Amino acid sequence: GAGQGVIVVSNRLPVSLECAGGTCHSSPVSGGLVTALTPVLTVNKGTWIGWSGAPDVEGVDAALRLFSQETGYTLQQVGLTHEQIANFYFGFTNQIIWPLFHDSQFECNFNPDYWQTYLDVNALFACKTVESGNADDYVWVHDYHLMHVAKYMREAGDNRRTGFFLHIPFPAVDSFRRLPWRSELLNALLEFDQIGFQTLHDRRNFIQAISILAPHVKVTGRGQVVTAKVGGRTIRIGAFPISIDYKKFYRTARSAVVRKQAQHVHSALPDRKIILGVDRLDYTKGIPHRLHAMQKLFTRYPELRGKLSLLQVVVPSRATIPLYAKLKKEIERLVGQINGEFSEPGYVAIHYQYKNLNFEELLAYYRASNIALVTPLRDGMNLVAKEYCAANVERNGVLVLSEFAGAAAQLRNGAILVNPFDVEGVAAAIHQAYMMDEGERRKRMDRMRESIRKNDIFKWVDSFFASAFAP
Ligand code: UDP
Repeated sequence: GAGQGVIVVSNRLPVSLECAGGTCHSSPVSGGLVTALTPVLTVNKGTWIGWSGAPDVEGVDAALRLFSQETGYTLQQVGLTHEQIANFYFGFTNQIIWPLFHDSQFECNFNPDYWQTYLDVNALFACKTVESGNADDYVWVHDYHLMHVAKYMREAGDNRRTGFFLHIPFPAVDSFRRLPWRSELLNALLEFDQIGFQTLHDRRNFIQAISILAPHVKVTGRGQVVTAKVGGRTIRIGAFPISIDYKKFYRTARSAVVRKQAQHVHSALPDRKIILGVDRLDYTKGIPHRLHAMQKLFTRYPELRGKLSLLQVVVPSRATIPLYAKLKKEIERLVGQINGEFSEPGYVAIHYQYKNLNFEELLAYYRASNIALVTPLRDGMNLVAKEYCAANVERNGVLVLSEFAGAAAQLRNGAILVNPFDVEGVAAAIHQAYMMDEGERRKRMDRMRESIRKNDIFKWVDSFFASAFAP
């Protein structure tokens, strides 16, 4: 609401810190969430609470004070020990909640120590929140790392209004029930005044979990936001699909730098269509399935050999976790195998890159690609899909999109939807994308771009607050 102070709480602060010899240098991180929340925080001198990402070194506080002076809002760090980082971050969040909520329950390691440290760390975040801001501030907590923050705030006597947004999916109740601490977790979430999900589907899963695990809670209403009654409190539960800063992608994609780089990509890969994949290294992204689909494509449609290359960028992530290291090996083995089978002098079937791209490089890839292949097995939203459309200034690309990405709810009006587990279906979809005439491509791309333009990241922030402050 107007004049309302805001405290944002997330696992990571929106800065990256480099520390040496007791001094730290901070630089801002970019990204849709930070871009959207910064104006909200600066206008009322708000606060962002999070872990700095650096082990609790001297110097972080000084760097954050300096950063706060420059940005016009306050940054507060929650210091974590090495053991807390191991059990909370690499343990509970990465090895329990992430796989469970993405329907990969067999990858879960339900270690009770992880749970205990998760509670301790959430209590630390809550404690820092209780000490921060003003009496009438709104506290907006982000994501699966911090589901207990409102509960611990209440226990400390802090009754300020709170909201929670889950950036990842909420699983079906039969998956969620496997969590040894399912009831504690559900009841902790119900301490927030508003709970937001990416899609109506996630919200339906959550309401089903309530009806089975907390049947005393009554849910009523329909539409984008429904209400639940718990003890004398009313909780709003809504679907708020996150988005991107459309204008920023659109504008930068049209810049001379990006146009030149896109031309360079084209001339390096002459006489062929480019299919693009951009994913963080993660088993939820379905990269091996996608590679199998490419193999199927070249087998079933041999006339496409030499005419179409996959440019697959894998962004390094969580590489110290053995499962991720194993996935990387598997991807590299498959790339080698497929290239061994289909490449020829002057033609490489799959161009594979394991690295971070800078913003212009990413946009040049988006702009240069004829087809984007976004085929996660499960994804809360998937911003790459929306970014590809926003950056496709020629309006002639085709998006092949997994029906298990949250983005499918907004982009089904133009994307070719696929089941990423159906290797033959994905191969057929790529063939369809390859054959699609220009009029059809433009019509579909325009529809998707229009819905992203209208529902950008700023609209997302507004709609979350509009519901939180509605009478
Ligand atoms: N991205 C990045 N570095 C890269 C390539 C992409 O940071 O080298 C960004 C990309 O622009 C997008 C984000 O990473 O905003 C990925 O978000 P998405 O929702 O697709 O998946 P997540 O990685 O959050 O699961």
